Amino acid sequence: MRFPAELRAEPRETSLQPVGTPLEHYFSDSARRMVPSEVRSLFAVADRPEVVSLAGGMPNAAALQYGSAQGDPGLRERICGVMASAGISARPDEVLVTVGSQQALDLVARVLLDPGDTVVAEGPTYVTALGTFAAAQAEVVQVGMDRAGVIPDELAAAFARSAAEGRPAKLFYTIPTFQNPTGVTLSAGRRRQILDICRAAGVLIVEDDPYGLLHYGGGPSRALCADDPERVVYLGSFSKILAPGLRIGWAHAPAVLTRKLVLAAESAMLSHSALAQLTVDRYLCTQPWQERLASVRTSYRERRDAMLRALSAYMPAGVSWTVPDGGFFVWVTLPEGIDARVLLPRALAAGVAFVPGTGFYADGRGTRNARLSFSYPLPEEIDLGVRRLAAVIAEWR
Ligand code: PMP
Repeated sequence: MRFPAELRAEPRETSLQPVGTPLEHYFSDSARRMVPSEVRSLFAVADRPEVVSLAGGMPNAAALQYGSAQGDPGLRERICGVMASAGISARPDEVLVTVGSQQALDLVARVLLDPGDTVVAEGPTYVTALGTFAAAQAEVVQVGMDRAGVIPDELAAAFARSAAEGRPAKLFYTIPTFQNPTGVTLSAGRRRQILDICRAAGVLIVEDDPYGLLHYGGGPSRALCADDPERVVYLGSFSKILAPGLRIGWAHAPAVLTRKLVLAAESAMLSHSALAQLTVDRYLCTQPWQERLASVRTSYRERRDAMLRALSAYMPAGVSWTVPDGGFFVWVTLPEGIDARVLLPRALAAGVAFVPGTGFYADGRGTRNARLSFSYPLPEEIDLGVRRLAAVIAEWR
């Protein structure tokens, strides 16, 4: 296991996890108790063709057998190819296949978080990540964003504050590219700053990147993980680029952490759906998936453009919104005095739905925000929906 130079440096006073701390120090109590099972280690040996195995309790089936909890080796290799678009040079042994990236996040939380640990996230952030951190009994601190993503000074201040309060942050959870819910992308310059800030504070990064390949203007963004693979756990998914119902995602982490994640996955689900893995593997091997993705981007770009056009055409003065370069979402800020939670039933009565901003904060903020998603409806439906919403906002009193 290699550790970057800064992990070997002198401990800093502000950090619970001194900067020279090996990755094992970040493990939760529960992860420390996860040890490889002798039985499962035996299976690897019993698998050799010259061995008559009286060991495993596998059904006598030639197809769709049990497999390893880490996931099919061929698929993991293919996943490394997908991550290469984000600048990550990965090895298959550092990849764990998961049941969507949601399971990856849950496993990371199990392996790294103890009750009371501090997690820093963007404000707003992905609603189900908040659910995962709540289930892990972590304290979530959310840091402000602007058009270029999370604000570095605010992030550094949040780390300093939580350290001063005796609850130093352990993880920074971020969706740097086409964020859910804002659609905002962390700028290249800020990516370097964020890595420096996390490094200095001894904080690990969880980079959630399900939308990175859905870019509608420039090319793919360089992942944080590409520049500091020893500090960043990268989560990816086939949900948005192939099919969510297959439930195939992945985590890429330093080898020492991947081993713990595999143990956690083993106790969660023993092994993956061989059918789902095979489907994704064959798709990537036999189909021109890069070309297919280009046409998916074209169709989402049309929807994005339809939403932006409709917002400009219909929204009353005082309403503002983000302009996403990819992904699924636009984040709307309503005029002073309008509460999105009160607006929602009126909007539904007018025949349009959105998600009020409060769901994306752990602390009640977001009352003046709404997340609009353009991924599913047709462009003409988007136009109709935004027109209805604009009318309801205009009638507010
Ligand atoms: N992270 C983010 C930011 C998401 O938006 C989603 C899906 N909405 C997920 C993770 C979970 O995706 P999956 O289907 O891969 O579990």
